[in-house]
Amino acid sequence: MTPAAELSACAIVKNVQSRNVSALAVLDAFLEKVKKEDIKVKAFLSLNEDQARFAAESVDEKISKGEPAGDLAGVPIAVKDNICVQGLNATCASKILENFISPYDATVIAKLRSQGALIIGKTNMDEFAMGSSTENSAFQTTCNPWDQNRVPGGSSGGSAAAVAGGMSPLALGSDTGGSIRQPASFCGVVGLKPTYGRVSRYGLVAFASSLDQIGPFSRTAEDCALLLQAICGQDPMDSTSSPLPVPNFREEMKRPMEGLRIGLPREYFGDGLDSEVRKLIMAAVETFKVQGAQVGEISLPHTDLAVPVYYILAPSEASANLARFDGVRYGHRSPGAKNLLEMVEKSRSEGFGPEVKRRIMLGTYALSSGYYDAYYAQAQKVRTLISEDFTRAFKEVDMILTPTAPTPAFRSGEKNADPVQMYLSDIYTISCNLAGIPGISIPCGFSQNKLPVGLQILAKPFAESTLLQAAYAYQKNTNWHLQVP
Ligand code: GLN
Repeated sequence: MTPAAELSACAIVKNVQSRNVSALAVLDAFLEKVKKEDIKVKAFLSLNEDQARFAAESVDEKISKGEPAGDLAGVPIAVKDNICVQGLNATCASKILENFISPYDATVIAKLRSQGALIIGKTNMDEFAMGSSTENSAFQTTCNPWDQNRVPGGSSGGSAAAVAGGMSPLALGSDTGGSIRQPASFCGVVGLKPTYGRVSRYGLVAFASSLDQIGPFSRTAEDCALLLQAICGQDPMDSTSSPLPVPNFREEMKRPMEGLRIGLPREYFGDGLDSEVRKLIMAAVETFKVQGAQVGEISLPHTDLAVPVYYILAPSEASANLARFDGVRYGHRSPGAKNLLEMVEKSRSEGFGPEVKRRIMLGTYALSSGYYDAYYAQAQKVRTLISEDFTRAFKEVDMILTPTAPTPAFRSGEKNADPVQMYLSDIYTISCNLAGIPGISIPCGFSQNKLPVGLQILAKPFAESTLLQAAYAYQKNTNWHLQVP
């Protein structure tokens, strides 16, 4: 049999259910891999061995008694450190939450537990999910498993690197402007941002509440569907979660590509797109043509406004959401302050890193009286225009194909000095969040220096099945997703 730590999530479930391997043996195999690989990669902020062992034993016990053990029985899952797991740290990679332990489970975590998944640890990220390289973590720098001198992308860089490095078959991340898809692209794995409202945000530490979604990382489209299935659905604890029924993704993804209409937005293939990335994307397009899809050019005319709009709206929402970290209730409290104001001021000054402070200041400014209409209200109007671009496009096509990022993974330190350069690495992923539509990144080849490149697929609201259908069809005809660092 294939060694346990090389099995896909779907294969783990099958083998655990049929008692070919125990959940405990699977867990041990992955923990061993973590101990070996993570010295270099540094994807994890904390491990959860005891809880995970307990969960594995309970899965094995259920199976030995012939009781149902869940759709994710015995599958290890790494979780981004801004998602609450009861009894574990939820640092958001910030000093301000360094010692915060979550008293409750996020809805996605409760769902995963009920399906027999094993939470193996919490992964590194950009502080409060603000960043594109995981270099904004207050604690450590995560390496790209394909090249130690390069970033894994961000902000869910730890989760992407954990899957790419073979340390976990599945991981959860969060995506506000590309934080699942861009690191998936940089690390050569699959990453999916669900439609806004598809997955409950209860227990996800809020960055920009109108944009945030939790989503899966995996190697294969099937594993992605498996994890997505487990976390979707309406939740009374999140009033923005959708009551729409959740389809059977693993069934729907097997529909053929024949006759599907694919749009290539001309605005995503202009200046600034690396020529190697362009070539690989166009080669992927050919694969879909061969499978009977119809391909045509489309236009999303407001694309160039997405980054500026995002950098008004996301910081505005962040400035409100992060007001709760005041030294009173959660995490860090500055010692020795003489009064309340000083305590709040000092706790926040000491607890937040430079990028988070920059965002809070940007957002506070955009929302302040006298500027609100010129910045925040105006950005909301443009957001509607961006959203309408997609509504119009999806009258003509079933899916949109683009590069996930303009380049492969950049070098550590390369974009640190210039925030705008860093912001531009999300130029192709941000519109999707502004419009609330679902998007996926799948590996579609390598640059000359062996760095993975991701293909982004976008679809109508709640058409995650269409994304998975394309990803599944693509992976059946290619083997990029089977390459390991
Ligand atoms: N990189 C973008 C930012 O810095 C997106 C982050 C995210 O999706 N969480 O805001």
